[in-house]
Amino acid sequence: MKIIGVGRNYVEHAKELGNEVPEEPLIFLKPDTSLIRNNQPFYYPDFSKDVHFECEIIYRISREGKYVKEEFAHKYYDAIGIGIDFTARDIQQKAKEKGLPWTLAKGFNGSAPVSEFVDKSHFTDLKNLDFSLKINGEPRQNGNTSLMIFTIDHLISFVSRYITLRKGDIIFSGTPKGVGPVKIGDKLEAFIENEKLLDVEVK
Ligand code: MG
Repeated sequence: MKIIGVGRNYVEHAKELGNEVPEEPLIFLKPDTSLIRNNQPFYYPDFSKDVHFECEIIYRISREGKYVKEEFAHKYYDAIGIGIDFTARDIQQKAKEKGLPWTLAKGFNGSAPVSEFVDKSHFTDLKNLDFSLKINGEPRQNGNTSLMIFTIDHLISFVSRYITLRKGDIIFSGTPKGVGPVKIGDKLEAFIENEKLLDVEVK
């Protein structure tokens, strides 16, 4: 399986990092070795001094898709969850300055903790879902899927023109504003609506 990430999919987050709001989706990949499941801890890597949290709604792809039309894209994912797109901001910043890929900044081991997936029929309106992140009990990020620049249906259509989607792939749909660094000992809790779905301890 693969993990597809989307950069700058919320206006206020693009602005907080000094980026332009994109005209088309900014796509990157994380390898399957970046996954953390079952609330296992995240081990702070020795190659970065500035790992940031990015709390994101994630979508599970349920069938193979190529050149999926946007109007049919909803048939290609069956469940959603919440994840943290850990980003080594110092490594990413160097890459951005040199126009180099983000692979190491985004795809390192353990950089993608994910919750259990919840069948999408559980939610009344996927296009208007609140989600949030607390760190050590303090609210740090709040988002709503209605604020995504590119909808999940658009993202599926866009990506599948270039990269075949397969059952079990995961799409990280971008983070709202409020990103920041984590440190060893932090306890992250991520919620969809008011339901806690993910715990991550930084070790
Ligand atoms: Mg992200």
